[in-house]
Amino acid sequence: SVEYTFADGSKFFFDGRCVNGAEGIYSSYVHGTKGVAIAARANGWESPLYAVKAHSDANYERCAHRMVVAAAVGHIRPAFASHNLRSLAFAIAAARAHNLPADGYEVQVLHGMATPLHAAIRDLGVRTRVYCPMGDLIPGMSYLVRRLLENTANDSFVQNAKHADDAALAGLLADPALALTAAGAEPTTAPSFSNEPVAELRRAATRNRYVRALSEVRPRLGFDVPLIIGGTERRTTDTMESVDPGHTATLVCRSSLADGRHVDEAVSLAKQSLTEWGRRTTAARATVLLKAADLMRRRKHDLSALIVFEAGKPIGEADADVCEAIDFLVYYAHLSLVPPPTLTQVPGERNDVVLRPRGVGVVISPWNFPLAIPCGMVAGSLVTGNSVILKPAEQTPGVALELVRLLHSAGVPGNALHLLPGRGEVAGAALVEHPDVSFIVFTGSRAVGLGINRAASVVHPGQRHVKKVVAEMGGKNPILIDGDADLDVAVPAIVKSAFAYAGQKCSAASRLIVVRSVFDEVVERVAGAMALLTIDHPSNPAADMGPVIDQESADRVRAYHQLAVREATVMSASLELPSGGYYVEPVLAVTDDPRSRLATDEIFGPVLTAMAADDLEHAVALADDTDVALTASVFSRSPASIAMVAERLEAGNLYVNRGCTGAMVARQPFGGHRLFGCGAKAGGPDYLAQFQSVTVVTENTQRQGFAPDL
Ligand code: NAD
Repeated sequence: SVEYTFADGSKFFFDGRCVNGAEGIYSSYVHGTKGVAIAARANGWESPLYAVKAHSDANYERCAHRMVVAAAVGHIRPAFASHNLRSLAFAIAAARAHNLPADGYEVQVLHGMATPLHAAIRDLGVRTRVYCPMGDLIPGMSYLVRRLLENTANDSFVQNAKHADDAALAGLLADPALALTAAGAEPTTAPSFSNEPVAELRRAATRNRYVRALSEVRPRLGFDVPLIIGGTERRTTDTMESVDPGHTATLVCRSSLADGRHVDEAVSLAKQSLTEWGRRTTAARATVLLKAADLMRRRKHDLSALIVFEAGKPIGEADADVCEAIDFLVYYAHLSLVPPPTLTQVPGERNDVVLRPRGVGVVISPWNFPLAIPCGMVAGSLVTGNSVILKPAEQTPGVALELVRLLHSAGVPGNALHLLPGRGEVAGAALVEHPDVSFIVFTGSRAVGLGINRAASVVHPGQRHVKKVVAEMGGKNPILIDGDADLDVAVPAIVKSAFAYAGQKCSAASRLIVVRSVFDEVVERVAGAMALLTIDHPSNPAADMGPVIDQESADRVRAYHQLAVREATVMSASLELPSGGYYVEPVLAVTDDPRSRLATDEIFGPVLTAMAADDLEHAVALADDTDVALTASVFSRSPASIAMVAERLEAGNLYVNRGCTGAMVARQPFGGHRLFGCGAKAGGPDYLAQFQSVTVVTENTQRQGFAPDL
């Protein structure tokens, strides 16, 4: 990999993993510098590069000055390469001011460019080196492309100087530092919602804050998780343990278990709360969510640390989980304040929409996003005025406890939000069946989700409504590689999509469908990149992959590994696995049977099944041949091919020339089609509507007058 050190001492590594040769390194490098600035902007980080041209011009002068000072004491012999009149004038003036001899420095210009400038410098008696690229054409092409890009940029000096007349000379020679003061900072448009920036872990100081949080949270592990009913904590004698999947000897927490009686009690209090919480103004409820977001922001590090221990997520993934939870709180708070749609009005009549909460909601969440998913489902239900009972996954009750406590301390009343940890088939089933529950928001496996749909359709005595079910389930997500794809971009994206968090995201890539002409190369490079993965306890910042969640998952992944050995070709190298946790090897299985279980089952672990397609249309047909359509990626350089995939491939979220995980709230509303589930996309503009009932009020306005209020 290529290492770059920035002014603040921090380092950036251009991803060497996509690289199998010098050409790859150069290409990463070219993508690298620009990519760093773009990534910084997209993530809300401070940019490590100058984004305003005047900044880099001013910096050139600072560097030139330093070089002249060093040259004046005989340390170096500087050369100034630029076509910027002002930059060269500054360098020459500085050299003269420090009495550098005429042969003590030189100016370098490119043959054939800015010829008058070249002549003028030569006339000053300054040594000038004129250079031109020479050698093989193909390696030289990248240089040519860079030049074309630079010199045709709108703010390029060469572009501006082309049109220079005498009047413009003052402008061309203007001090960039003054230009900066005049222009001020870069213009920014303040968006109403922006995503919470994920941690920039390449900075040592940021990384260290997480490492410190891990050491502070570690001694607190082994805590109790009570039920929280009506704001009161309860403990049961029957309990369940949640352990660190990366080190199973570490007990994370011991959770009380809710049963049918607790469910009855919580539902009854939740029903009562509707009058108080449900009748608050939307703005008042949104304020509570925003306060919760603030509290969460302040606790980002320790919440991430707890996720590392309880869910086995590597630090970066755990931090992203917290950021997404914050995004849900803020985004749904904003969304709740958007006025309802207006209806058509005619003279003599007024039509209004009145939105009401649906009632008591049940949230049943999985373990793989132990904070973000329950937080989003709870926040959406609460901000629309419903009261909620959260039944978290058996594996992650500790994180759920933190979420509920945090929401209570932000101002959600105890009766509006209850926590019932427990077994799915006991507490979960009792909640789903309860006649006073109006809606169920579920994320988890297909078997359980379809079972909940069935159970919720039964009308129990005393029930006066049809239960609404929002269910988000799994995926079997494909990445399609076209024959002309940029493999330097594709290979690291494939590896991240398939193996980050050990493939345990519903959006993870599990099928790799490659056009035959590049199939062998892609498979070889993905296998090569997998051999470089570091598998370790997720608290190690260098770990690319941690454990899977539990013994059952580890057994399942190993069984598919064996199946791959029998029925496919396993390409991956065997890696060193740590002991003491549920660690499994990542697997790349090559098959020519698109209907094999490897190619169709949701394995929910680090298993990627690769297959060849005759062309991109065939790849789409293979990708589409499943009963679930959640995420998909396509890598291609052809706009027509990309358009064809976007039109034909059924997917809830299609990504072009990037990986298929990491949907951001408000930017990529998330959810799929077919047997993926039912309900609006999470983190999107339609999400809240499913927790509200709509009354249309139509008033005859040709009235004769009102009786006065008494
Ligand atoms: P799971 O279905 O086993 O459990 C999910 C929740 O359902 C848990 O809280 C569990 O206790 C509860 N549950 C189990 N049986 C129940 C029953 N009979 N009645 C009511 N509740 C019951 O899933 P999991 O193992 O926690 O999560 C992994 C699955 O979740 C994968 O299939 C994955 O694809 C899916 N998932 C989907 C998304 C998404 O956004 N679509 C996100 C994350 C995970």
